[in-house]
Amino acid sequence: MMTLHGTSSRKFSSFIGEITTHGQPFYDRKTYILVTDHMDCHSLGYRGCITSGHKGRFYHPDHIYHVENTENLHDGDIVGLDESGNIEVLWENQSHQNCLFLTERCNCRCKMCPQPPKNSDSSIFLKQAEEILDLLKGKQISDCCLTGGEPTLVGDGFFSLLRRCTSEHPEAFITVLSNGKLFSSRDFTRRLSGISPRKCMFCISLHSEVDIIHDDMVGSVGSCSATQQGIYNIASVGFAVEIRIVISQYNYKYLVQFAEHIYNYFPFCVHCAFMGLEFHGYAADRASELDVVPSEYGAYLRDAVLTLHRRGMRVSVYNIPLCMCPPEIRKFSAKSISSWKNIWINKCNVCMEKEHCCGFFSTSISIHEELVKPFTERIEE
Ligand code: SF4
Ligand code: SF4
Repeated sequence: MMTLHGTSSRKFSSFIGEITTHGQPFYDRKTYILVTDHMDCHSLGYRGCITSGHKGRFYHPDHIYHVENTENLHDGDIVGLDESGNIEVLWENQSHQNCLFLTERCNCRCKMCPQPPKNSDSSIFLKQAEEILDLLKGKQISDCCLTGGEPTLVGDGFFSLLRRCTSEHPEAFITVLSNGKLFSSRDFTRRLSGISPRKCMFCISLHSEVDIIHDDMVGSVGSCSATQQGIYNIASVGFAVEIRIVISQYNYKYLVQFAEHIYNYFPFCVHCAFMGLEFHGYAADRASELDVVPSEYGAYLRDAVLTLHRRGMRVSVYNIPLCMCPPEIRKFSAKSISSWKNIWINKCNVCMEKEHCCGFFSTSISIHEELVKPFTERIEE
């Protein structure tokens, strides 16, 4: 998530609030955080303030001053402030990629995890997610993603937040990013009853149908069968399932066989996404073990994508720049990288397809610049 920095006015407990840049009536300010160039009498009554200017007086609310780039904050954004002077953007009003982060814990240890799990207390994240939903109540949102770590590990908190998302925002598209393992239990899956599956999809990571490949990639024996059982159980209670496959040295040669398996065993899946790696966290530590260049996996990826497409399954390619995709599957490439960590390199400035390309992760330690080939003319759809 995007983070801005400044200096806090004093020691205070972290809090969240909704950004206003134009001000609110005095009686309605207590859930808002005012963004202002300078603190004055118009700054009173808010939950907090953010200013690019100087520190306010002692009677002003808790605030963070000397903040650069406040123009990146917009009305309706939800931010968290802490006494170290950090401003975390937890919800971007204009974005379609907003998440509720539920936990840092996970029951896998994927070699390619960009955000390594921690056995930390999840209650802070759950409280924050509840507070975000409180601030969003009654507003129109287009989508929301529940994520972690492994969000299902928080049990009651997960089901309660999913229920809130689907009932308070029936118009929104709700996704859950999960490894699906806990849903291998029918009893656990039954806890989804009463939650509307109408606009809710589970995005389940499964990297191979071969247990020694998948289990090795996710660092947990038994995961391959648990995740596949989980997919069946989630679908059996009416929820849509997407399968997400991360491409690495471990599985790239077997993508076509895996695509066949998906079609044969999970024809009910509404979408499959083949994903390039984000070289951050564990994936950065193990880059030499995981990394495979697009020119090496391209033909396997092309055949796997077309295998599913020809059989009527919806399929996409995430996180792989257009110039690194084989021509036959460029139309499946999606702009998949969250805007706050999406970059392009200098070579891309002259590319005719930049607006349709996913670009790169700013967080990745490896970009394969030598493979970047700008398009000199528009490619045909
Ligand atoms: S990639 Fe996902 S499933 Fe794997 S360790 Fe990280 S959070 Fe867990
Ligand atoms: S040159 Fe850059 S913008 Fe163009 S397709 Fe390649 S990575 Fe994307």
